[in-house]
Amino acid sequence: MIVKHVAPTSGKRSSIRADTIQARPLALFTESIVSLLSSPNMHDAFMDLVSLMGQTFPLAAPALYVVVPETPPSAYSVLDPEKSGIQEAQRVLRTRKFSYIRVLVGGQPPDVRERVELTLVHTPRITVILSIGKGSHEDIFREWVNILTPAVIKLVDNEQLRDMAFRDALTGALNHRAFEEMLQAELERASRYKTTFSIMMIDIDWFKKVNDTFGHQVGDLVLRAVVQQLQHGVRKSDYVFRYGGEEFVILMPHTNLIQAKKLAERIRQAVEKMQLMIGSHITISLGISQYKYGITFSDLIERADMGVYLAKTKGRNRVEIVRDAS
Ligand code: GH3
Ligand code: MG
Ligand code: MG
Repeated sequence: MIVKHVAPTSGKRSSIRADTIQARPLALFTESIVSLLSSPNMHDAFMDLVSLMGQTFPLAAPALYVVVPETPPSAYSVLDPEKSGIQEAQRVLRTRKFSYIRVLVGGQPPDVRERVELTLVHTPRITVILSIGKGSHEDIFREWVNILTPAVIKLVDNEQLRDMAFRDALTGALNHRAFEEMLQAELERASRYKTTFSIMMIDIDWFKKVNDTFGHQVGDLVLRAVVQQLQHGVRKSDYVFRYGGEEFVILMPHTNLIQAKKLAERIRQAVEKMQLMIGSHITISLGISQYKYGITFSDLIERADMGVYLAKTKGRNRVEIVRDAS
């Protein structure tokens, strides 16, 4: 379980003792919907929402539980994880495996007493449950949930639409289009702020043989497993893209060639060690290139690509660097 301590993203109001804001519920409803709809993503939106509820109704000690199939659930909670927060999350989520994101609201939340769960969203793709302490604020929260639900559904839909446009459906990696947009943005950032970054091109070795021997569907499963391994092996700030077919690219902001080479070597070894259901192991060939002032978009890709080509000609399952593509 991962525990993160996070301060409220937008200190909307200082801690107000007691549940006495009932005269202003409408303003609160409006504020929470505006905050939801203007958040850049679901994570920020849920943090803001819990922060707003927790600061306005300290006795409610709210927690939002977000369940998306095939990923560990998230708990956004004002409760202290060391006290009752983790237990409460386990009780509601019925698992011990989740990310716990503590939302700090400037003050100690009350100890957990009897709590009540309200379902904000329940669809095949996502379930969002709001948990609060019982009390006189309960009615307001019920009304709040009714008003919030459509806004949360809209947020989820938007995020999923964005995912469909920028993610590869087979592997879940970011797609080629996302790569082009993000590489362009990174080039502009690096040139403006005089920073650097590197990219890593990856091509699976002898992948045609996997398909020929075990069938295309098994090949697909191997591609998925490789992407999971890549995503697991990179740092939080790096991005994994499916460039096409059995080729991938990793964008590493603020990373020079030496650091990129270390990461590439680690990834190469991790893939080589993967236990696959096909019984045999697979390997990858990697090429890296680093942004230098003046280098173009296509130069950068070409250099990494030539690294892959060199790795293939030198026997595969290697990392190679080509400093000058010309
Ligand atoms: P090399 O070591 O030279 O890279 O050999 P290779 O066999 O990996 O390279 P080649 O380019 O000859 O073959 C790539 C194969 O990847 C052929 C293609 O059928 C397979 N492939 C591409 N996309 C997919 C996919 O989405 N699913 C599956 N199962 N296979 C794919
Ligand atoms: Mg290839
Ligand atoms: Mg290949």
